[in-house]
Amino acid sequence: KVPKLDNKKGKKIFPKEKEKGASLNNQSINKKITNKTDLNYESLILKFNRIQKNIKSYKYVLTKKPNNTHFNDLLKKAKKNLSEIKTQIKNHSFFICLECKRIFKSKEELANHTKFKHSISDWNLSTKYKYQEPALHGCYILDLHGFYLEDAKLEVVLYLTNFEMTGFKGLILIHGYKHGQTLKNYFRSETFIREMRDAGFEIDLINTNNPGSIGVILKN
Ligand SMILES: [Zn+2]
Repeated sequence: KVPKLDNKKGKKIFPKEKEKGASLNNQSINKKITNKTDLNYESLILKFNRIQKNIKSYKYVLTKKPNNTHFNDLLKKAKKNLSEIKTQIKNHSFFICLECKRIFKSKEELANHTKFKHSISDWNLSTKYKYQEPALHGCYILDLHGFYLEDAKLEVVLYLTNFEMTGFKGLILIHGYKHGQTLKNYFRSETFIREMRDAGFEIDLINTNNPGSIGVILKN
C-alpha cells in the first residue's frame, strides 16, 4: 500500500486495507482467546503482520526516494522490531501465507485468508493447455526470476512445507536461463534433490520441455 502524505498537517496516513475475510478471521480469533498466553501470542501475531505491512510501505516509498532518511529510519526500526517478534514466536506453530507472507495461528485462519484475500484456489495453477506432461497438471507455478539462489531455495522449501495445506500436486519452478544459469543449474541438479531430502522432502524432477522451467513433484 502506498502511504499518502498530507503535506499541510505533516501527518502520514496509511490507508486502511479492505479485507473481505476480516469478519470471519475476527470471529475465529475471538473464539480462540482463552487464556493469557494465547492473548499474548495473538497480539504478537497481529504486531508481526502489521509491521510486515509497514515494511512493505516503507520499501515502496524508498524505491521512489532511496535516500529519504525518515523512511530509512522507519525501515530499520521496523526490521529490528520484526526480528524481535520472530524470536518471541519461534516456539509456537504458525502458518505463513505464501502470497503476502502474513502469518496465522491455525490452518483454518490461513485458509480463510487465502480464500478471501487471494482466491488462491485457482491461482497460478498449471493446466493441460500449458503443459503436456500429465504429472505437471495442477502444479503451482512459482516464478523465481530475480531471486538469489539462497532466497529461491527458501521460497521452494516454504512452498513444499505448505503442500499439505494447499493441495497442490507439485511446483513448476520458473528459473529462467537468459539472465544467468545459477538457478537453472541448481534446480536441475542432484544437489537440489539431495538438499531437499535433507530438509525432509523426497522429490522428483520432471522435464517441462521448456529450458526456463522445471517440474518438482513430491513423492508419496
Ligand atoms: Zn496473504
